[in-house]
Amino acid sequence: MSISMVALGPDDLEERAEWLTALERTVDATAFCLGNEVTNFEAQACEFLDVPFALGVSNGTDALRIGLQALGVGPGDEVIVPATSFFASASSVAHLGATPVFADVLPETLQLDPAEAKRHITERTKAMMPVHLYGQAAPMGELLALAEETGIEVIEDAAQSFDARYEGRALGSLGRCGTFSFYVTKNLAAAGDAGMIVTRDEATFERMRSLRVHGDAGGYQHEHLGWNARMDGFQGAILSIRLERLRAVHAARAKNAGRYHAAIEARGLSDIVRPLGLTDGSDHVWHQYIVRVPNRDHVMQSLRDQGIGCAVYYPSTLPSQPVFANLGHRDGDFPVAEAGCRDVLGLPIHHRLKDEDPDRVIAAIAETLA
Ligand SMILES: *Cc1c(COP(=O)(O)O)cnc(C)c1O
Repeated sequence: MSISMVALGPDDLEERAEWLTALERTVDATAFCLGNEVTNFEAQACEFLDVPFALGVSNGTDALRIGLQALGVGPGDEVIVPATSFFASASSVAHLGATPVFADVLPETLQLDPAEAKRHITERTKAMMPVHLYGQAAPMGELLALAEETGIEVIEDAAQSFDARYEGRALGSLGRCGTFSFYVTKNLAAAGDAGMIVTRDEATFERMRSLRVHGDAGGYQHEHLGWNARMDGFQGAILSIRLERLRAVHAARAKNAGRYHAAIEARGLSDIVRPLGLTDGSDHVWHQYIVRVPNRDHVMQSLRDQGIGCAVYYPSTLPSQPVFANLGHRDGDFPVAEAGCRDVLGLPIHHRLKDEDPDRVIAAIAETLA
């Protein structure tokens, strides 16, 4: 029996029926663009995350773009971005004419390294973007202290970590603003593209709300160079349903993580198959279960040959992307991130796995490495 990497769509016939009812309601109200379904989801998300302001937007990339723009990031500015993340963490900065300044990550967790972030701050640094990778926090205590000390803004890319917390506070709500993606493979997944920005600051919220719709102050008066980043009504309707089930999804993912840990220990593999460490003060919603393994590409191919889904997040660093060649980085500039790219492997951890699946995956890895 094969094991898939992701679980897409409704979980069961009951949820499927809920989706269709919500979609019918949206059609009948012709609430296609923003509208009631999105407003309701925003209110629900505010309560869930305990933040005063949330904006539903078109996707996680637009959320970053609008958040950065609301912080005043533009040409000539620098933004500190971790060397390991999804492309959009850096491209959103570059699209605004600013420069992503990459900083290496911590060996235990692959999260932004505060000492490396500090080393790259210049008088042009406008902001830093901690990315809460794989479902847990970057080391926010140190990063927030650094931002305070140097007077730079913090925008959190929490695309992979909706509902994860740092010292009890929701990720995304710790800096000036925080962004989420509800892409179909994320823990809280829409039925297409969607995203969100949250903030505790009312002035930032008003600016972002205007930027979401072309910077229109009303009556076609454009105060800012905004963008079209509206969320679809259909996505708001689906996300409201999914949000109700999210805590159960996260409990199932945490159980699977425990089963992986136990299987690795039980098979005496902890020196060879090494799960990433945990960030102090953070909980974990297990967007990914990442292990570091020798002969990673061979292990990955062997798992896939046996029908076990797995994937590499990420096979190369952001500074090594061809589109950033102009920044002049070389192999060896980000040794920790580069080492991660060579040996990380993401294993299936979604909430529809069977109880025995994690052990089967670890058994298959053990056999391959034997
Ligand atoms: C998914 C993701 C994004 C982009 O979100 P989209 O909704 O796909 O635009 C940005 N940053 C990180 C870290 C992500 O994982």
